[in-house]
Amino acid sequence: MRFRKDASDLDERIEIPELLIKTLSSLESESLLTLPGEVIVFESDGLANFGIVRDGRIVSEELIALIRVVRRTGEIHRGAIEIARGPIGEGKREVTVSVTPLTEDGLILVLVSDESEGRRIDAVRRDFVANVSHELKTPIGALGLLSEAILGAKNQPEEVVRFATKMQNEAKRLTELVQEIIDLSRLQSSDPLQKAFPVEIEDVIREATSQAQISAESRGIYIEPGAIASATVIGDRDQLIAAVHNLIENAINYSPENTKVSVASSAKDGLAEISVTDQGIGIAESELGRIFERFYRVDPARSRETGGNGLGLSIVKHVALNHGGDVKVWSKEGVGSTFTIILPIAKTEEQI
Ligand code: ADP
Repeated sequence: MRFRKDASDLDERIEIPELLIKTLSSLESESLLTLPGEVIVFESDGLANFGIVRDGRIVSEELIALIRVVRRTGEIHRGAIEIARGPIGEGKREVTVSVTPLTEDGLILVLVSDESEGRRIDAVRRDFVANVSHELKTPIGALGLLSEAILGAKNQPEEVVRFATKMQNEAKRLTELVQEIIDLSRLQSSDPLQKAFPVEIEDVIREATSQAQISAESRGIYIEPGAIASATVIGDRDQLIAAVHNLIENAINYSPENTKVSVASSAKDGLAEISVTDQGIGIAESELGRIFERFYRVDPARSRETGGNGLGLSIVKHVALNHGGDVKVWSKEGVGSTFTIILPIAKTEEQI
């Protein structure tokens, strides 16, 4: 909370009750009190972050205009104003203000809150729904076309078999996609640590590797067990296995046949790391920032061939974050990639 010294020197017209100041300081919104002539007599601590007031003066023309309207009409006004994010650049943010006349002699209360974060989350949610609908339409459309093709070819048994096989593939993709969308929304809406148990990372790696064995063999890829450190983390075993499994499947899918994928773990400074390294196609540096986004694929055509839907890495990221950890990636085009899940250790073997 800050009283403007210059204001109280200049202006003896008003005494602000302590209770009002305490109330304003306890609100989530930032606040300021101003007298006619836009003399600020109080501003809350966090108001400085909004760039509305500089050197004791209101610098937002829009807010000044709103305050003048309130003085003229004596009525409360609420609205959104745009303020510059900084002194340079065009970045703007929208804040919500409510301007209330408090006393006859022109004391005005301004409450300021930033709803842009809430709006950003809403936008991400809307995008997700739009993306899901788009992703679902593709296999559903394909199923429709294939069933028409089967009807058209009903007297040619070989064609029927060919189209029916394609239909099976599309149905399988659709099932996987729907399952991953469900998994992802579960991950986003629940806190896994509420039903968390001690999990051995060795066990997670063993299980995830064994689940990937068949697809590795079908592509002649050898899953090499690297150095494995023992460590226990607190979390949801199935989610952790699914995350490591996703990384191994990606390593297999984005590597040429007859190469190696290695899975290793280490434990130090209270953190366990599980890393999956491949000798695959790698990822361009410019793409690395985006691959964890939902539905993002570097090469949609290739990803579609391998049954990818762009959700795998966002699931990995969510699992890591929900467990208080993170995921990082190193990659070089034509050389390969290493994805590492980092998790806080509950206890190491030595401590048990
Ligand atoms: P997808 O289902 O398409 O594999 P992911 O979310 O798992 O989706 O991965 C996003 C994109 O990141 C992939 O489409 C691919 O372009 C890239 N990618 C992921 N893992 C690897 C890897 N090990 N090597 C090369 N590219 C990868």
